[in-house]
Amino acid sequence: LASCSIWCRRNLYGSLRRHNSMSAWVIDQYGTNEVLRVSDEIMMPTINLASEVLIKVEAASLNPLDIAMRGGYGATLLKLRRDPMSVMQNDTEFPLILGRDVSGVVVECGSQVTHFAPGDEVWAAVPPWKQGSLAQYLTLTEYEVSHKPKSLSHTEAASVPYVATTALSALVNAAGLCSDNCSDKRVLITGGSGGVGTFSIQLLKAWGAHVTVTCAGNAEGLVRGLGADKVVDYTAGDVAAQLEATEKYDVVLDNVGGVDTERWALGLLRPWSGAKYVTLVSPLLHSTDAAGLAEGLARAGCSLHSKALQNLLSRGVFYRWGFYAPDGPALDEVSALVDAGKLLPVVQACFPFSQVPQAFQRVEQGHARGKTVISVG
Ligand code: NDP
Repeated sequence: LASCSIWCRRNLYGSLRRHNSMSAWVIDQYGTNEVLRVSDEIMMPTINLASEVLIKVEAASLNPLDIAMRGGYGATLLKLRRDPMSVMQNDTEFPLILGRDVSGVVVECGSQVTHFAPGDEVWAAVPPWKQGSLAQYLTLTEYEVSHKPKSLSHTEAASVPYVATTALSALVNAAGLCSDNCSDKRVLITGGSGGVGTFSIQLLKAWGAHVTVTCAGNAEGLVRGLGADKVVDYTAGDVAAQLEATEKYDVVLDNVGGVDTERWALGLLRPWSGAKYVTLVSPLLHSTDAAGLAEGLARAGCSLHSKALQNLLSRGVFYRWGFYAPDGPALDEVSALVDAGKLLPVVQACFPFSQVPQAFQRVEQGHARGKTVISVG
């Protein structure tokens, strides 16, 4: 049976290669859910760099970014990242494939790929400037890919990479935390019930930190089950007042954003001790979309600079923006923690490939409790 299945896969792949087309959900313009279109005639990606791997997608997942990108969020900056020198003859991002997480199988490797071979099960976070995972195939560079944890199914695995690489980038690069320095650290996570939050709680607990989480009351069981030491229900009243008598924090990871959250969260940091506030909700892409590249970058840069300076001088705390960053090696470490039973995937809903628009609707409704996954293979 196994050899028959391999034979079938090879022949399916062979026939797709011959026809040079695959199935994918694409958008041809920015807008609401109506712009999503499924097609069997999307050009198969091919390996263009010696460091690339071609992956057959088994499962994908959605992030708030997919909803935002469907509406055109980040188009200005992402266009620059796709074509920095404006040399592409086809000066359009359409048809654009969304989907930032992939779990799948390597089917072909570039000549200089050393860590992967055809048949390897892999997972990855797909950079927003590349074609996404709501498709049968995609290409990524070897550096962006990691071996999937053996203990997870593809649908479970697809729930992790984008939130994991984002959380790691924010917690390690921006907040300076790592597995060796967390045992005496107190961390506050706002929006702990969503994708980034549910991953970050578990990672920080695995690293030994004390973790406080803000979330709605009906998510308390979920976040406590993932290891949160203290939970504050933001729907039950002023969060700052509820945490007034609590010891101050070394790090705030803000998944909610907004002026109000910033104000009270910064006030909960331990002053003059190297404490850091890291928000994942920055105005950078909104700013470049609204004001164009040069002015948008300048405005966002000024805003960051002035907040950083003001908070350092007045409170003695660091103010930083956190961003997703592609990082296959970081996912290798996550994979090891998953296989050791220290990190669990948190899947709220799983949709078949035929119901991608319904999955977008689900994520757009908000109130995430972990991730929404799509079975592709
Ligand atoms: P999700 O939508 O998965 O989770 C957000 C969670 O926050 C939900 O569980 C929601 O539940 C909860 N929430 C909403 N309002 C509040 C509040 N006032 N206080 C506490 N909890 C609240 O988002 P992600 O976890 O994937 O991402 C978090 C944020 O980070 C998003 O804004 C996202 O766009 C951003 N992000 C930025 C990245 C970057 O590179 N800068 C990368 C990845 C994410 P409920 O409404 O029921 O309370």
